Amino acid sequence: MHIFELWHGEWGLTRDAEFRSDPWFIVSGKEVIESGFGKPPKDFFKKKLPPGVIVPGFVNAHSHIELSCIAGKVPQGSHLTRMGEIIQAERGTLTSQQIRQKAVDAIRFAEDFGTFFFCDISNSTDFIRFLRDLPLFNGNRYLELLGFSSPSDAERIDRAKELLDIDATFYPTVHSIYGSSPRQMRFVREKARHTSLSIHILESPAEIEFQNDEGPIVDFLQKIGQHVKHAEMQGQSTIDYLYAMGMLSFKKLLMVHLSAARIEDIDKLNDYVPHAAWVLCHRSNLHLGIERTNWESLKNSSLKMLIGTDSLATNSDLSILHEMKSLLEIDKFSERELLRAATWDAYEYLEIRENAIPYFLFVGAKPNILSMGAANKVKMLGL
Ligand SMILES: [Zn+2]
Repeated sequence: MHIFELWHGEWGLTRDAEFRSDPWFIVSGKEVIESGFGKPPKDFFKKKLPPGVIVPGFVNAHSHIELSCIAGKVPQGSHLTRMGEIIQAERGTLTSQQIRQKAVDAIRFAEDFGTFFFCDISNSTDFIRFLRDLPLFNGNRYLELLGFSSPSDAERIDRAKELLDIDATFYPTVHSIYGSSPRQMRFVREKARHTSLSIHILESPAEIEFQNDEGPIVDFLQKIGQHVKHAEMQGQSTIDYLYAMGMLSFKKLLMVHLSAARIEDIDKLNDYVPHAAWVLCHRSNLHLGIERTNWESLKNSSLKMLIGTDSLATNSDLSILHEMKSLLEIDKFSERELLRAATWDAYEYLEIRENAIPYFLFVGAKPNILSMGAANKVKMLGL
């Protein structure tokens, strides 16, 4: 048994997310201690890996693993608010055992294709604790406070407070400007400002209408008895309201979607939070029929792009490799840009320690995303 082993592969990924031949890895147990290309350091026991591509694991920057049990229930082309109704109705019909089993299956599938880290949103304190104790799960856990009107918003705050008293390993967060009340925004700001916020922003054009107190989101809130006109929001755009509430001043800010963000919104974000990240969940947007026209403005902005999947309610899996495959089809990003967003950019933004990053071998694959997606065997290095 050697404490350190030197492994030699056929194809690897540089820190600049380019494929290069002849990678080597110094491995101890499950940890990759050092890696490089070309001539490796001497004096180690050498092991040749099977031909294929070796990459560091992928980061899913936005998921709702808790909703894996809703897979297949939201028809293609459903509106955002229709999805909300379906999720609400389905939730009540499932046991906690079923919800947990589907969650485990979804994580396993993603991991089988190289995704090892999630920025995951849970709605229940129960599920937040389940993920904490699940060895398979690795990532940041956010407890989302839903509730647009009183007293349900206050009740959710109380439940979050109770859990925070005994467990400070998760981040309280808000859903969106229409899913969480100003009171919840203030609570999250005080509790988590020095840590991280994950918030859905401008997922669909309906949020622009909502700013003027009209459109399907207002209808939806009325239907569920949650419609209120909060004074804090009146006459403000989504970005200005969040800014005024102090919701953009978090250490790590994950702005999810921005699909309907206009040039003026993106300009403001460039100004207010140049170092923040935005998360693209492309397949989920497609499923909900949300079309994006701001690709170039976001690409030219200072915001860091990360990749997420959203939940199985609107996606077929939580695998970032599959997300990249789908993104390649629209020809907006190079393979290198996508791979950077899924690996080194995400590690850097989320402060994931290098020795906590597992490496995956896609056996027999050629150095491109499509071929990796077709590999019939993927192995985690060092196991
Ligand atoms: Zn989401």
